[in-house]
Amino acid sequence: MATYKRVLLKLSGEYLGGKIGHGYDPKTVDSLAEKIKKIHEMGLEIGIVPGGGNFFRGAQGASFPMDRVKGDQIGMLATMMNALYLAEALKAKGVKTQVMAGIRVPQAADDFSKVQALKYFKDGQVVIFGGGTGNPYFSTDTAAVLRGLEIDAEIVIKGTKVDGVYDKDPMKHDDAVKYTNLTFSEVLAQDLKVMDQAAIALAKENNLAIGVVDLTSDDGLLDFLKGKEIGTKVG
Ligand code: UDP
Repeated sequence: MATYKRVLLKLSGEYLGGKIGHGYDPKTVDSLAEKIKKIHEMGLEIGIVPGGGNFFRGAQGASFPMDRVKGDQIGMLATMMNALYLAEALKAKGVKTQVMAGIRVPQAADDFSKVQALKYFKDGQVVIFGGGTGNPYFSTDTAAVLRGLEIDAEIVIKGTKVDGVYDKDPMKHDDAVKYTNLTFSEVLAQDLKVMDQAAIALAKENNLAIGVVDLTSDDGLLDFLKGKEIGTKVG
């Protein structure tokens, strides 16, 4: 039994790139699609915001001085590619999926609209929101919170490669302590690496919970959604 009805899943682009973190790792994408299929079969309504870091992250991704706005637009188009790719991976597994775009690419996907997204959910479809917010100077973390609010999701789940939020980097420090529950104020005051500050501020202001879940584990996402005390919950 799921404890939620509608959730927004944020996937970093890097995750789709597997170990290398670049391009697509077919095995990683396949197992991710399988996990999404499983939670979809629980009757959950699922929106997804993909990042674009497996291809391009803003102007710093260029080897020459690049206009920030152009760099961010390239990054947003990278998230569109990920949205379309992931949708095909899900459809190949028999999961009905739609892509909506925050940046206009009319030949490839419909523009985002709350009304239409809700119709798709009613129809049992997974909806992938590509193109971030459509605006430069934002991240897909912020886009995830924004879309989460727009579609009335009960929680934004950030899928990562670690099993929650720690007081320091668990890869570098053996004595790092994991948090199970945090308040938004604690995240902001201690500058904990949950999401960027703009995303946290938007979630805090609108009281939208955030979950941090390890996607590399077999049933981490499923168990979190069933209400098990794993990962970290902020809110
Ligand atoms: N981006 C943007 N506006 C948005 C979302 C994303 O300009 O609303 C751009 C930005 O350049 C960002 C890139 O798209 O670096 C890829 O997104 P992000 O870095 O959030 O991807 P992730 O790290 O999650 O893979």
